[in-house]
Amino acid sequence: MLFVADVMLKKLARWLRIIGVPTVFAGDYTEDDDEIIKLAMAKEAVLLTRDKALARKAGDYVPVVLLSSTVFEKQLLQLAKEKRIQLAGFESRTLCPQCGNELRVVGREKVRGKVFPRVYAAHEKFWLCSDTKCGKIYWTGSHWRKIGGTVEKVAGLLKGVKKAAGRKKAI
Ligand SMILES: [Zn+2]
Repeated sequence: MLFVADVMLKKLARWLRIIGVPTVFAGDYTEDDDEIIKLAMAKEAVLLTRDKALARKAGDYVPVVLLSSTVFEKQLLQLAKEKRIQLAGFESRTLCPQCGNELRVVGREKVRGKVFPRVYAAHEKFWLCSDTKCGKIYWTGSHWRKIGGTVEKVAGLLKGVKKAAGRKKAI
């Protein structure tokens, strides 16, 4: 499943890529509603938006998820629920947060001179974006633990939601 995130959802687009869900950020292409719909059509993608008018209009052409929250954790939770997005084990699926392309694991010799010496010295393993135009380099610093914590939090919320739904059924 591919998502197109509309221009207001840059943070969500980055997070979806981090957890390994292929996502196009519409703002990289256009800000025009009609063009966003055409983009989602061309990519056969599910459109994500918070804009009711856009959702209504796009709904005639592509599958749409109208997100109800401005908080990205809640947006992620809604998608995990409605589109069954996998959260567990996301670390092995992470895509480049910047551009959405695949990341390749590389040894430190490949990034010599491209990262700060302190970072180079402290890490053995790096991730390099496979898109040569982007070419971003990543490593598992303290921000990575924070990312894991955020994904765990959403996974915990999802469990709570499922439990509540189960209880309702039991009644
Ligand atoms: Zn990239």
